[in-house]
Amino acid sequence: MTSTTTVPAVALRGGTSIPQLGFGVFKVPDGEAAQVVSLALDAGYRSIDTAAAYGNEAGVGAGIAASGLPRDEVFVTSKLWIDMMAREAVRPAFEQSLERLGLDRLDLYLIHWPVPGAGRFVEAWEELVALREAGLVREVGVSNFTAEHLDALVAATGVTPAVNQVELHPAFSQRALRAHHRELGIATEAWSPLGQGTVLGDPVLSAIADAHGVTPAQVVLRWHLQAGTVAIPKSVTPERIAANLDVLGFELSAEQVAAIDGLDQVDGRIGPDPEEFAG
Ligand code: NDP
Repeated sequence: MTSTTTVPAVALRGGTSIPQLGFGVFKVPDGEAAQVVSLALDAGYRSIDTAAAYGNEAGVGAGIAASGLPRDEVFVTSKLWIDMMAREAVRPAFEQSLERLGLDRLDLYLIHWPVPGAGRFVEAWEELVALREAGLVREVGVSNFTAEHLDALVAATGVTPAVNQVELHPAFSQRALRAHHRELGIATEAWSPLGQGTVLGDPVLSAIADAHGVTPAQVVLRWHLQAGTVAIPKSVTPERIAANLDVLGFELSAEQVAAIDGLDQVDGRIGPDPEEFAG
């Protein structure tokens, strides 16, 4: 199984679109990010997910520049960190991200966490919308927002995020939140799409992988694609970087999708709870 075609794209509400498979760089040190991003772009990824908080925007930007790819061919996402959510802090934070990345605009900019107790996500959102209206970013969205946070944002501003990037993998498949996204017209983007590797030893996934002659990681990424979710797997391992993109040449049956859906657990979350996370 190695036949690949172009990675599908998911349409975003403002008229742009995002590749359904992108490359995540959380925990990649700045000094290694240029080389890792170069590997990913060489392998065929055309979407990179970074954040101010990852401390590697400079390395990511260097990797993008070294690729020589036209700017329009790489979809670049970064995120506003929680200490910069005050109204007057947002634009400087965004400009610092642009400067570190060496870019003059982003494709997607997200509020990284809602931090509901701080009461700042509405004002931060209004500033993100202003950045989009100024042409500095093609689309704006959020990350780690619950259905309640999304409803509060839309009620307060009348502007719906294009994307909500949330923890999502077979052990934590976020069925209710995805349904809410569909109602609101928000694209679902999965962080830790491989459950940081923790789900890959499950025998259900191994059996499906064997049936297709692929790896459990490829089965999980294929499951994301067939669910319509955008996935941003991270790896620093060249073979995995390539293999994680090589998921277009096979198709899971309805029964196989149902079996993977059945791995969902009430307590399957591995990252922080968005209601509580405050840095
Ligand atoms: P992933 O689910 O992508 O898993 C990454 C881990 O799995 C790494 O340890 C990697 O190891 C390993 N791995 C990757 N590919 C394979 C494979 N084919 N087989 C076996 N193991 C594999 O976790 P992340 O938490 O990194 O999430 C992905 C991205 O999501 C992040 O990089 C970041 O961009 C974003 N993110 C966003 C968050 C947010 O709050 N918005 C929070 C967390 C992540 P190795 O690298 O050694 O190959």
